[in-house]
Amino acid sequence: MLKRGSTIGILGGGQLGRMMAVAATQLGYRCIGYSPEGDNVAAEVCEDFFTNRWDDQAALAAFAARCNVITWEFENVPVATARAFPSDKIFPDPKALETAQDRLNEKRFVEGLGGRPAAYAKIDSQSDLEAATDRLGAPGIVKTRRDGYDGKGQWRIMSGRDASALKLPDVPAIYEGFVEFYAEFSVVLVRAQDGEIRYWDSSRNVHEGGVLSASYLPAGEAVEPQVDEARKLAGQVADALGYVGVLTLEFFATHEGPIFNEMAPRVHNSGHWTIEGAATSQFENHIRAVAGLPLGDTRTTAEAVEMRNILGCDIQGAHAFLADADAHLHDYGKSEVREGRKMGHLTRLTRA
Ligand code: AMP
Repeated sequence: MLKRGSTIGILGGGQLGRMMAVAATQLGYRCIGYSPEGDNVAAEVCEDFFTNRWDDQAALAAFAARCNVITWEFENVPVATARAFPSDKIFPDPKALETAQDRLNEKRFVEGLGGRPAAYAKIDSQSDLEAATDRLGAPGIVKTRRDGYDGKGQWRIMSGRDASALKLPDVPAIYEGFVEFYAEFSVVLVRAQDGEIRYWDSSRNVHEGGVLSASYLPAGEAVEPQVDEARKLAGQVADALGYVGVLTLEFFATHEGPIFNEMAPRVHNSGHWTIEGAATSQFENHIRAVAGLPLGDTRTTAEAVEMRNILGCDIQGAHAFLADADAHLHDYGKSEVREGRKMGHLTRLTRA
């Protein structure tokens, strides 16, 4: 167990790190962040912050020397950076990053455990794409294998003609058949160092333009019957990776059962509702897991919960939402307001 007053290093400087650092501080720890130049909003709540490149070996060594344990909030931390730290000091194991950073690896890994992703094909050239659309049909989506998030690095293909017209990005990609789903949902779990796993209730997630816009609990009848099967897969993924901390798997609820979409080896936007809506939040349990503390109860404490992301300039008037006494605002403190950028979120609870 990490002693009080110990220091937790967080790789990445965004809102997830910011909320993680708040939870760690509450538990009596100090946090130091590390991320290259950017709008590092976690820095405001960290004791210190290293603004250095991911391959700055001297800075990484200086950072590691000050941390008792290191974790991440950003899934695109280079694997080599995560592996630069002693393996007993970094949680989760960097192999989770390695698996999740490449959509093709991730799908093969999950299939190996019995999970079902959408039909997919590896795309390295225009002729691969045409062959894939012939085989899997259209509509479908071209996705870059690496570095995609929030719908970035994705192109919808509605017909063979779209496939011929698309100027493929000059990076490895996949083509994925479009899934007809009833709803989208996620499994957010936490796994402790001794292998104990706890799951939060699954929320129904609504995306707009590839970006999460809202999560709802209860998730409703389209999702609930599919949660057990999805949890079983998520638990197997966590065990296979020897995972420590919070892990998220996203699914489509379909007439054939849950179809795996993607995993995030970190706390997740669809788990933000847990700050007010669950007995222990995803952020607190992530810190408890990496610090070797007992896990907290994950049960939902409200009858219904709704989490909405606040994008772009909607953050300007967000304090007005607090006229509703059941609403809770989280402003990430980002200085640059860009259209579609996640600036904060609002959680609204319905109590029994
Ligand atoms: P991703 O970044 O892969 O999670 O994609 C973002 C969102 O785009 C998903 O949450 C879905 O709303 C939609 N999407 C992605 N892939 C598919 C698919 N194969 N079929 C249907 N919708 C998809």
